[in-house]
Amino acid sequence: MALIVQKYGGTSIGDAERVKAVAARIISRIEAGDRLVVVASAMGDTTDRLIALARGITEEPEPRELDLLLSTGEIVSSTLLAMALRHSGHPAVALSGAQAGIRTDRRHGRARISKLDPKRILQELEAGHVVIVAGFQGITEEMDITTLGRGGSDTSAVALAAGLPAERCEIYTDVEGIFTADPRYVPEARKLKEVSYEEMLELAAWGARVMHPRAVELGAVYGVPIYVASSFSGSAGTLIHGGAAMEERNKVMGIAQDTDVARITIRGVPDRPGIAAAVFEPLGEGGISVDTIVQNASVERLTDLTFTISRHDLNRALAIVRPVAKSIDAPDVMADTHLAKVSIVGAGMTSAAGYAGRMFRTLEQAGINIELITTSEIRITCLIDESQVPKAVRALHKAFELESE
Ligand code: ADP
Ligand code: ASP
Ligand code: MG
Repeated sequence: MALIVQKYGGTSIGDAERVKAVAARIISRIEAGDRLVVVASAMGDTTDRLIALARGITEEPEPRELDLLLSTGEIVSSTLLAMALRHSGHPAVALSGAQAGIRTDRRHGRARISKLDPKRILQELEAGHVVIVAGFQGITEEMDITTLGRGGSDTSAVALAAGLPAERCEIYTDVEGIFTADPRYVPEARKLKEVSYEEMLELAAWGARVMHPRAVELGAVYGVPIYVASSFSGSAGTLIHGGAAMEERNKVMGIAQDTDVARITIRGVPDRPGIAAAVFEPLGEGGISVDTIVQNASVERLTDLTFTISRHDLNRALAIVRPVAKSIDAPDVMADTHLAKVSIVGAGMTSAAGYAGRMFRTLEQAGINIELITTSEIRITCLIDESQVPKAVRALHKAFELESE
């Protein structure tokens, strides 16, 4: 009897009918002989609605209270799913993240799992129960409820699969697997049979929201095979794993886009040691993650320092950066939010030339201006105007021949 962790996303359990449909899928797996721990996301757009409720009270909700509020979304869905299973005659129990033993650090809104104490889950499995765990949440040593960042139920699921341990983690969502690009942008995107952890991590970290980046990271560290498939159909999905024989190893395998970009430029920064540390240390201490940094060559010992962050962090980042700019005699801080990232990803880029040229030429031919470029060994990212993203993604998908195997 294999122990499997399954996770169902918000759309998959969006209303009572969908909760019952998912319960039926779980029952068929139990009847086939598997033991299941099931992680539930909040129903539909519950998390967005809870955030809007909080913002109706204050623009900057207290992070501790916001986490406690948001955690209720997953409590609702997990309890309903347990009820649906019991109603169908299958013993099931719902556990909050805290009851499931998911311990985290204290970073509200973006907590990281620090420890898993699976005692209660194992007891419940031993008693023959299907265990339904509320995703996206954990508890600190001080017994405060935390959340793991948007999309974090994937991470709850992979962490449980790693810690129990389970044979694999199955992520059920509203698409049939991992595609060569977001099927909402590119209708001709192709479903992949398998993807390596490293390629999936690049796609997820650079905007493919089908998987939470931290979940992929945990999967890679603990060697958990992650299977992504639809909760609406029985079609074969995509296996994310560490095997060497990857599909189309020598090609670009996928495209990601991310419109959550804000850019800050500090003008006229003196070109001397210690300036970058003076700017980025306080941002790090403020919990703001910076992804692209460009420092121009200096003219008369003055330079411009540009970096990008998430739009949600813009106000907090400006509140940190403006006094620092003043203290180093930089005359101007500018910010804008019209940019987006498009990235091509593929392990094949490590060993072959010409990918960057082809990407830049494709964007140029589509009439798209590139404002910033950033790369890793297996990824090239261009920052472009947000309004051009659909056109850019479609043009790149075509240029790299991703629709055909
Ligand atoms: P869930 O609620 O199940 O967690 P999400 O909305 O978080 O679902 O993720 C699924 C969505 O991810 C899909 O509807 C799709 O639009 C988007 N997506 C982005 N990139 C990809 C990709 N490369 N392959 C599949 N889906 C993708
Ligand atoms: N409900 C949370 C969110 O909307 C977590 C998740 O769905 O994974 O971000
Ligand atoms: Mg998700």
